[in-house]
Amino acid sequence: MTPPSIPTIHALRRHVERNHERATQRLKQIVDHDTPSFDTEATSGAITLLQGWCEAQGATVDTIDAGGAHADHLRARWPATQEPRNHLLILTHVDTVWPGDETTRRPFQHDGDRATGPGIFDMKTGIIQSLEAIDAVLAMQPLEHTTLTLLVTTDEEVGSPTSRDLIEREASTADVVLVTEPSSDAALKTSRKGVGMYRVSAHGRSAHAGLEPQAGRSAILEIARQIPLIDALNDYAVGTTVTVGVISGGSARNVVAERCHVDVDVRTVTPEETRRVHEALLNLHAVGEDVTLDVEGGTNRPVMERTEVTVQLYQRAEAIANHLDEPLSETAVGGGSDGNFTAALGRPTLDGLGAVGGGAHALHEWIDVRRSLIQRTSLLAGLLLDLSATPLQESA
Ligand SMILES: [Zn+2]
Repeated sequence: MTPPSIPTIHALRRHVERNHERATQRLKQIVDHDTPSFDTEATSGAITLLQGWCEAQGATVDTIDAGGAHADHLRARWPATQEPRNHLLILTHVDTVWPGDETTRRPFQHDGDRATGPGIFDMKTGIIQSLEAIDAVLAMQPLEHTTLTLLVTTDEEVGSPTSRDLIEREASTADVVLVTEPSSDAALKTSRKGVGMYRVSAHGRSAHAGLEPQAGRSAILEIARQIPLIDALNDYAVGTTVTVGVISGGSARNVVAERCHVDVDVRTVTPEETRRVHEALLNLHAVGEDVTLDVEGGTNRPVMERTEVTVQLYQRAEAIANHLDEPLSETAVGGGSDGNFTAALGRPTLDGLGAVGGGAHALHEWIDVRRSLIQRTSLLAGLLLDLSATPLQESA
């Protein structure tokens, strides 16, 4: 394998530096555009803005219907100029966890090396980094045999219900998937836990708490008995966590509760553990008499495992980071992303290539502007160039 030479990587960074003002302006514009997952109208505006930028950079853009509940997803393609042999897919999402008027309260702010604003870390900076990295690569040379695809989806923060098919379709033809979700304390993410979401509901019989409580069958009592059984599924030693996050039940103090339920969050590091917990939850039975128990739910995101090919991919990134004097490390995280879907399909996936900063989903969300928009954008550009010159399977 021949990694891009040091002068090539430095030339990519010079291109990125020359366009830094544009990148910062684009970041401000996209951050100041509120994009809640379920606000189709607001988020459509951001998609239109991004479409314009992609087209200005020579992409063929399609928008993909999200069924009305979310704004259209965007697919931008830069086709190979000759016979395509290699397909690199970049995954991003423009939706954020913030409400539709968040930017009026705290718009984009830039002070020295620090910038803040809703969704700046997770993951609007990652979209701008992707665009600028693609620009730098294509300014260097046409990609003769490599097709680049950038996906920008609009429902990631709510579990990707309408984008999952699209992501999996694109990933099925991709040789490598690069996810510009934010880094974790500047580290790339080479494994992510799988995520499951369940609801366990008890249905008993209501009765007057003073007149004939013995005729009632308390759904609250039933759920209280189930909770220790659910909790016992935890196995911290192997990284499995099972959390009862929400409990809700009963109608009034003086009524034996007819209904009660809990919502359960499951995180696992291996498919075997995903299956073990899934089967155990589905096999829960009512303990009390005349009470029924229902379990709904399942895996939302499969485990993203740290495979041999993930390690190869990480090492390719690390070699480029070294040439940029950019410190790089890798880590495993408990949160899921769309990278979980592509990794589960067996596609080599490297995640966390986006912003350096912190505070995802929190009011103190921030990014380091120089490290994100210059260093990590140059790293991404270098990686794209490297993977187009030497596809992953040939580098082993
Ligand atoms: Zn995200």
